[in-house]
Amino acid sequence: MTQPAAVLPWRTRANLWRARAETAVREHAGVLHLNMAGMSRKDAARWKSARTMADLGELVIEWLHGEITQTPGHCAPPCDETLPLIPALTVINRGGFVTDNSQLAEVVDGDAWGTDVSGFVTDSTLAKIQAAADGTDLVVIACRGRHHEHRQKFRWQPCPRRDVTDFWATACPDASDALWATWWVYVEDPVNGRNDLLWPALAAALG
Ligand SMILES: [Zn+2]
Repeated sequence: MTQPAAVLPWRTRANLWRARAETAVREHAGVLHLNMAGMSRKDAARWKSARTMADLGELVIEWLHGEITQTPGHCAPPCDETLPLIPALTVINRGGFVTDNSQLAEVVDGDAWGTDVSGFVTDSTLAKIQAAADGTDLVVIACRGRHHEHRQKFRWQPCPRRDVTDFWATACPDASDALWATWWVYVEDPVNGRNDLLWPALAAALG
């Protein structure tokens, strides 16, 4: 199985790239290396065993805790920036939001960016996320097929949903129908450096 380089291709914000260009290059090189090596047979078997969204959420939690090395879309263990987010990500994944990417808000050498998380959700989980975001600064973007639910102009061209979902559906064939039925959702706090809104809000909504 060819493992696609799925890490960060759609992150185009100039502030992120300026601050992290070197890291991104190193990470990307690492991803390419791992891609050529492929996912381990053990990891591949775990992902192949998934049948439901709940199964996928539990596997992401295993990856967060080091029991699985790769996800279908992230070909390495969690990045350092993910470590502080593991408690919240665990609650969120167990609550139905199967996450495929996240970013810690940081301020580094005068550059700064907000926190965000993306992944797969059913209609009912999307409703909980949207309710949690209502009345806050949180931005929620959701895509299923050609349908987009946006709170702002869609910023990615093209939309990453199809590629991202395809990585997961390929690695998890018995969960493929469930994945293609989900919304790919992206939640962002646009306030640079702030981590204490999005994570508590999602954990409370999905916990
Ligand atoms: Zn889309």
